[in-house]
Amino acid sequence: MRHDAPRSLTVLGATGSIGASTLDLVGRAPERFRVEALTANSSAEELAKAARAVGAKLAVVADPAAYGALKQALSGSGIEAAAGAEAVVEAAERPSDFVMSAIVGAAGLAPTLTAVRRGAVIGLANKETLVCAGALFKDEVRKAGATLLPVDSEHNAIFQVLDRERPEGVEKIILTASGGPFRSWRRSDMAGVTPEQAVAHPNWSMGAKISVDSATMMNKGLEVIEAAYLFDQPREKIEVLVHPQSVVHSMVAYVDGSVLAQLGAPDMRTPIAYSLAWPARMQAPVERLDLGRIGQLTFEAPDEVRFPALRLAREALATGAGAPSVLNAANEIAVAAFLNRELGFLAIAEVVESTLERLAGRGIPDLESVLALDHDARRLAQEAQARQAVRA
Ligand code: NAD
Ligand code: MG
Repeated sequence: MRHDAPRSLTVLGATGSIGASTLDLVGRAPERFRVEALTANSSAEELAKAARAVGAKLAVVADPAAYGALKQALSGSGIEAAAGAEAVVEAAERPSDFVMSAIVGAAGLAPTLTAVRRGAVIGLANKETLVCAGALFKDEVRKAGATLLPVDSEHNAIFQVLDRERPEGVEKIILTASGGPFRSWRRSDMAGVTPEQAVAHPNWSMGAKISVDSATMMNKGLEVIEAAYLFDQPREKIEVLVHPQSVVHSMVAYVDGSVLAQLGAPDMRTPIAYSLAWPARMQAPVERLDLGRIGQLTFEAPDEVRFPALRLAREALATGAGAPSVLNAANEIAVAAFLNRELGFLAIAEVVESTLERLAGRGIPDLESVLALDHDARRLAQEAQARQAVRA
């Protein structure tokens, strides 16, 4: 790909937190990008506004019920409108150099894989796709010669400092974690946590699902699995370190005792800009890191007793096969129920654990089996959640 020619770009999940940050950067450097397609779940007006602002050719809502509103909001713009899950996949199929994968959850799997199969450069924010289909996903990337650029801040940091040519020199990967809003809370105090408290992250402003994942620390668990697949690392080499300031985004330790880190203000526009411009760099309007003002950076070991989700994710990675898919699907159901006030905060991990117990060991040799396992895990998690609700 030439780097002086504008990059054509598709954003899956354009109305979300990552999608909006991506379009913010694109809007500041219009000469560098041409927007092919934008997709969203159901927020038709917001999507149409974004599509008009960046001059997209196509806008797609996954929810067919939002088609009328989208059509109307785009009238007179010349921007094509479409709706339905298949239309989202078709948007990913349209030729573009770069696809930002920023749908939340396993719903992003099919469109992201479609973009992978046509050999696109993928900015991967949607970690759930890698967690639920890890080995298969990586196989497809290799087969198609696609390029996977991690957008998740920790993995983007690792990508920037990891010597991929000489893996024998790498001793371990150290994923940093903010610890979330309940980092120093007693477990008993977490029982009554509300969705409002859980989504109020101390450092990052993010979508609701990932904010809850940060609060349970399932996010870090998903990220351990994400790192294992992305960087082909055995789980023993992936360590988690709590770092409440979210300035050191992650580190790689080498066999000679060197530790390389990537630092920056906690603003997703830095890793997004890195992926959009890769292998060059582009301006990002983020606060510059002022370590003198910050003064102190602190680190502490994670507590898997108060935050069992982290242990569950590690166990799922150790079990291998379909266990990470089950973990992810059950977590998506439990988090949605928590956000709907149908499930307690501490019960999220309990639903995940009981679903894992019932489906452990199922293999995922192909994409159909991933989708079937995801489906079954969601059903069992829903049952477990209903049992919890009756008890409460
Ligand atoms: P968000 O909830 O703000 O946005 C999600 C986007 O996906 C929206 O555009 C929504 O319309 C779309 N969407 C939701 N369900 C869909 C469906 N069924 N079909 C099609 N589209 C659907 O989420 P976010 O915080 O932007 O996170 C997106 C992804 O990036 C997640 O996987 C998250 O883990 C990851 N991520 C986010 C951050 C962050 O700072 N927000 C950081 C690292 C990784
Ligand atoms: Mg992250």
